[in-house]
Amino acid sequence: MIILHDNENNKAVKLNLVDTHTHLGKEEVVGGKGKDFRIIRPKDHLDFYEKLKYDIHKRMTSYSEDYAFTPPEDPKKLNKTATKLQEIIFKEKRTTQNIGWLADKIVTFPLHDILSSKTDPRFVKSNNYILTRAQTFEYGSRLVPFCRVDPTDGEKAIEEIKRCIDYGARGLKLHPLSEKWIKDIVTDNVISVVKTAADYKLPVIFDCQNYKTAQDIHQVVMEVKSQTISEDFTVIIGHFGFDYQTPGMFELLQHPNIKTETSGMRGDDCEVFYKNCINNVEDWHYSTMYGSDHSYFSVPQASDHLTYLVSNKAKDLGINFEHIRYVLGINALRILKIYWPTKVIKRKGISDSKVTWSDFDKILKCKNQQQLADVVSELSSISGVYFNTDSLFDPSGENVYEELFILNIFADIINLRRSFVVQQINENKTKVSEVTKLMDFASEITRILEESEDTYPFTQQYLFDYLLHQKPK
Ligand SMILES: [Zn+2]
Repeated sequence: MIILHDNENNKAVKLNLVDTHTHLGKEEVVGGKGKDFRIIRPKDHLDFYEKLKYDIHKRMTSYSEDYAFTPPEDPKKLNKTATKLQEIIFKEKRTTQNIGWLADKIVTFPLHDILSSKTDPRFVKSNNYILTRAQTFEYGSRLVPFCRVDPTDGEKAIEEIKRCIDYGARGLKLHPLSEKWIKDIVTDNVISVVKTAADYKLPVIFDCQNYKTAQDIHQVVMEVKSQTISEDFTVIIGHFGFDYQTPGMFELLQHPNIKTETSGMRGDDCEVFYKNCINNVEDWHYSTMYGSDHSYFSVPQASDHLTYLVSNKAKDLGINFEHIRYVLGINALRILKIYWPTKVIKRKGISDSKVTWSDFDKILKCKNQQQLADVVSELSSISGVYFNTDSLFDPSGENVYEELFILNIFADIINLRRSFVVQQINENKTKVSEVTKLMDFASEITRILEESEDTYPFTQQYLFDYLLHQKPK
């Protein structure tokens, strides 16, 4: 979360930051000295966000007259954890991961991985790597795992998507160029893969390097739209096709099921892109999301983009604080599938659970965030236990509650999954309630909805919609 001071309104402001495009894994790259490898680990993304924080702070303080916002004097205070629970746990128990809090959530998916061709269908091992990293105590609350498939694997690719959903995949990545199906985008294989993702509420991000590919993606979207039961699915045109001038690109953004992300944009591209967005797209700020494509791109590009958005230049163009909020966080938070794995991949450190169902009851008794952090950490000291937090929106779906989130906590055997709503009532008082009963009693939902519950600022209908659809009606 980014903390800034709004100069015009003279108040502190917070911005949720969701990176919609990063990679993990190992891929071969051709360098000057022949064969080499690109290796990206989860920690690299946290390091990247830590460096980015200092770079942004330096730019904004060195040329403060260029900015509509002011960073805190101390660069360390430019970012903050999204929840108090993260703050306590990472300060006390996970100190080496206590960095990079500029980003609240980091969407991540496989590279053109060396493991991808080792299985049939492709990417099974690469997907497992991503899915297991998201199932760790260290990274679970920040990494958002997307799976990747090669649609030319046909029915097997579809089975792989469904398998990954069981293990917690929250989106799908497709890369027509590197997998060499760039000429076959509008085909039954691709349409079936995207339709499967849409049916299961997974947003789909396509790598896209030009307008021609973007047009093909648009055709796929139209086909899927006519076939899927899920009306509000999302397809993301990666990098906005690196094309910030072609009017047709901006026409595509008018489509309610198409969004884009901005990775790779740098320098003056940012202004050109946003100027064209504002001139060509109605409610443009709902269709554009921030992405970094780390580590293909790194601090210079991300810093260009983020500092542009908070500059006077952007403000003069008509970009206001609300627009920035949507682009940096709200749009992405609204489309990500809720984290709901039903299985855990066996990995090192996973043995039969020593945590019992009743151990989790301790969470319900927590009266403040410190107690909650202690219990979560205590459970985590038992091998294979991890947690994840999901933001909740207010009923309009336009604001993230500051002190309200879903805590998903898992033991090494997935039937020990339990989920809680954590509400900060005041500085010292926290209320924790179990949410899974809403899912367990789905068949009795009408009765549950008739119970009046004034304790939470949202209705049970809202929470149910959140769990099922990830955004309120
Ligand atoms: Zn990429």
